[in-house]
Amino acid sequence: MARIYNFSAGPSMLPESVLLQAQQEMLNWQDSGMSVMEMSHRGKHFMAIAEAMKNDLIELLGIPANYKVLFLQGGASAQFALIPQNILNGKTKASYVNTGAWSTSAIKEAGKYCEVQLAATSEAEKFITIPAFDTWNIDKDAAYLHYTSNETIHGVEFSEVPDAGDLPLVCDMSSNILSRPVDVSRYGIIYAGTQKNMGPSGVTVVIVRDDLVGLAPKTVPAVFDYQQQAKTDSMLNTPATYNWYLLGLVLQWLKQQGGIAAIEQHNIRKAGKLYQAIDESSLYSNPVVKDYRSRMNVPFVLADAALDKEFLVLAEKNGLSTLAGHRSVGGMRASIYNAMPEAGVDALIDFMAEFERTH
Ligand code: PMP
Repeated sequence: MARIYNFSAGPSMLPESVLLQAQQEMLNWQDSGMSVMEMSHRGKHFMAIAEAMKNDLIELLGIPANYKVLFLQGGASAQFALIPQNILNGKTKASYVNTGAWSTSAIKEAGKYCEVQLAATSEAEKFITIPAFDTWNIDKDAAYLHYTSNETIHGVEFSEVPDAGDLPLVCDMSSNILSRPVDVSRYGIIYAGTQKNMGPSGVTVVIVRDDLVGLAPKTVPAVFDYQQQAKTDSMLNTPATYNWYLLGLVLQWLKQQGGIAAIEQHNIRKAGKLYQAIDESSLYSNPVVKDYRSRMNVPFVLADAALDKEFLVLAEKNGLSTLAGHRSVGGMRASIYNAMPEAGVDALIDFMAEFERTH
C-alpha cells in the first residue's frame, strides 16, 4: 500500500528515509547483532547512539554550554507540573501568557503548585491573535514567565521571543521546535514533546539553563528532578531507548537537509502557499491574524460546515489523511511539520481547489 500524506497534529509524519533506515537496522544495528530495542542502555552501542543524538541536537539548536539537555518521559504535559516544582525556588507566583488551548493546560497544571499571574491573554479574542508585547503585565515577583511558542490547536505562532525582563523565560516549544532558528540563550527553559518535529512520541526534550538546575525541593521525586536527571545524563531510570534512537535518526536527517535555517525556508514556502490558497478561495477561511499564523498547524473552516464530512471523506480517498480540526474548535487543520513534503502540501491545495470547484 502506498504511503499517504498524513496531516496529523502529532504523532505525525516522519521522514521516509528515517523509517527505511530504522527498518534496515531493525534486526541488527550496525553489526551489533541486535536491535536497538534489545540493547542495554548502559552498553557501549547505546551509549554511542545517545551521545551522537544529544550532540546533534546541541549542534542543530546551537545550545550554549551553560545549558543541560534532558530527555525525559511524561510528555510536555508532565513538564506543565514539573516546571513549577523544579524552579519556583521558594517563590509563590509564576507569570503565564495565555494564547490558546495548550497555554491554558499549562496554566491549569501550574495552578496546583503556585499562584498563576496572567501576564496577557487572548482568550477574549478566541485565541486568534497574540497580545502586543507592550500590553503584557509581568509580575516582577514571579519565579518565571511561561508562554507557548506555537499553539497547535489554534494555529497561532510567535515570530519573536518575548522579553521577560529579569525573569527566566520558559517556553513550551512542542509544536514548532526545530522548525525555525531559535536563540536558546534567551531562555531559562525550553521543553517539547518529540512527536511532531523530532520523532515518535515518548521522549520530552528539556533544555534548562544551569542556574535553574538544583532548585527542586527534596520532596520532588528523583526522576522528576532536573538536577538528578542531569547528573545521570537522563539515565536515572531506564530511558525510552528506541525512541532516543529514532530521535537521533530524525536529527541526522535534519542535518542532511541543511539544518534549521534550510528547513525554515522549506516551512515558509509550504505554509505560505497553503495560506494563500485559503485566502484566495471563497469556500475556505483561516481566522488567525496574519502576523501570528502558524507555519506548522494551519486551521481552516469551510463556509458551509455541512460540507465538512464530505470534505474529509473525499480527502481521505485522495490519500490526504487526518485533516479534521481538534474537537474543541471543529473545522479542519493541516499540520505540516518539517517532515511533511512540499508535494503533500501541493496535493492538499489541488484537492481543496477541486473540491471548491465541484461544490
Ligand atoms: N503543548 C503543546 C503545544 C502541544 O501541542 C501538546 C500536544 N499536542 C502538548 C503540550 C502536550 O504534549 P504531550 O501529549 O506530549 O504531553
